[in-house]
Amino acid sequence: MDNQPSVAIIGAGLAGLTCGTALQGLVPNIKIFEKSVFPGGRVSRLRVGENEFNHGAQFFTVNNPLFWNIVSAWQTDGIVRPWDGWIVELQKGQIINSDLATQRFVGVPRMQTVAENLARRCGLATSANISELEPQREGGWRLFNERGDYQGAYDIVVIATAAHQVSELCRSVPEISEPADGVDMTVCWSGMLAFEQRLNIPYDAAFVLDSPLSWISRYQVSQAENGPDCWVLHASPEWSQQYAASFRGRVMHALLDAFWEATDVKPHKPASASVHCWKHALPINPISEDSLFVESQAIGACGDWCTAPRIEGAVLSGFSMADRVMKYVHKNTA
Ligand SMILES: Cc1cc2nc3c(=O)[nH]c(=O)nc-3n(C[C@H](O)[C@H](O)[C@H](O)COP(=O)(O)OP(=O)(O)OC[C@H]3O[C@@H](n4cnc5c(N)ncnc54)[C@H](O)[C@@H]3O)c2cc1C
Repeated sequence: MDNQPSVAIIGAGLAGLTCGTALQGLVPNIKIFEKSVFPGGRVSRLRVGENEFNHGAQFFTVNNPLFWNIVSAWQTDGIVRPWDGWIVELQKGQIINSDLATQRFVGVPRMQTVAENLARRCGLATSANISELEPQREGGWRLFNERGDYQGAYDIVVIATAAHQVSELCRSVPEISEPADGVDMTVCWSGMLAFEQRLNIPYDAAFVLDSPLSWISRYQVSQAENGPDCWVLHASPEWSQQYAASFRGRVMHALLDAFWEATDVKPHKPASASVHCWKHALPINPISEDSLFVESQAIGACGDWCTAPRIEGAVLSGFSMADRVMKYVHKNTA
């Protein structure tokens, strides 16, 4: 490795972007490859007709002091704010708990803003699906996309994808692929509804008990004064698993029925309705190591599957990965 090491990060979710931004200015040549058309991964938004929805992560909580510092900086930058919405617990149309006092944060104006903001500070290639990593005899890795096109050679590679994609990419590195293989992920069906008239629902979001749904939330991006009333629904992991292979139309109807039952609002037709299946939503059994790095092959991996199934877990894992890469670079370029 020369004195100008290069780092490729695969995946522009919050883990990969945190790693990339933490390395900025310390490592000269960093490139992030993202298979989607925009950064964010599971904090992305989805456009359905005229409306857009946070159909993945809805909010985040903060426990770790390092994450507090990061979130304070995000607040200063104006990309997150505390969520002052009224969140309740529902059971069969009744509010059974209306005082869920945990402090929660949201992106401003949407969750994806955090990822977009971090991405602006990194060299990001979108629509770049890396499907093969080839070790070079002289050290480092060659990257190829799904069409077999060469995407460059890098001294160090960080895989910052969900666990199943990590194990697909680095079969030749059992120190990483084996722990990643052992991580199971939940499925989550997400429903996106838009109504022409505002529904008679006083709260902003609810955890739902005894229902196919586990969560419903009025979409928070400021809509036009007379704009549609948009709702995101998340089905429970158990229900989503059971209906993982079902037709979208069937799932949509089941989620809509569950929405009316949960909210006790008289059913009527939404102006638009759509569903999305997160096949790899949340890691059930993270490996409890902040990140993985194999020095002898200059390759590492990070993501929420290492730490905890939430935004905080992804960010802290990305930070830990950057720390390991920095230590490796110092050792090998001193
Ligand atoms: C429905 C749902 C609800 C959630 N709700 C919450 C919540 O309320 N609060 C909370 O804190 N967390 C929530 N989460 C969890 C949170 O979204 C994740 O923990 C976090 O976003 C994971 O970030 P990550 O960077 O580890 O992975 P991801 O966000 O999955 O990022 C991985 C990235 O890698 C890219 N990628 C994959 N393979 C390749 C490849 N071969 N080449 C290039 N790029 C590739 C993907 O496109 C993706 O952008 C929720 C998640 C889901 C799905």
